[in-house]
Amino acid sequence: MKICGSCFCGEIEYTAELQTEAVAICHCRGCQILSGSAFRCDTRGHQP
Ligand SMILES: [Zn+2]
Repeated sequence: MKICGSCFCGEIEYTAELQTEAVAICHCRGCQILSGSAFRCDTRGHQP
């Protein structure tokens, strides 16, 4: 699955090819701080 996005101001843009079988949700304290929510969704990818 291919995704694309950018930072908030739009200065940096990216595209990535995701390995959908490697998607994970983590509830550790570090991921809560990073995401500002109860969990963070993470996956591994590689440059297309
Ligand atoms: Zn975590």
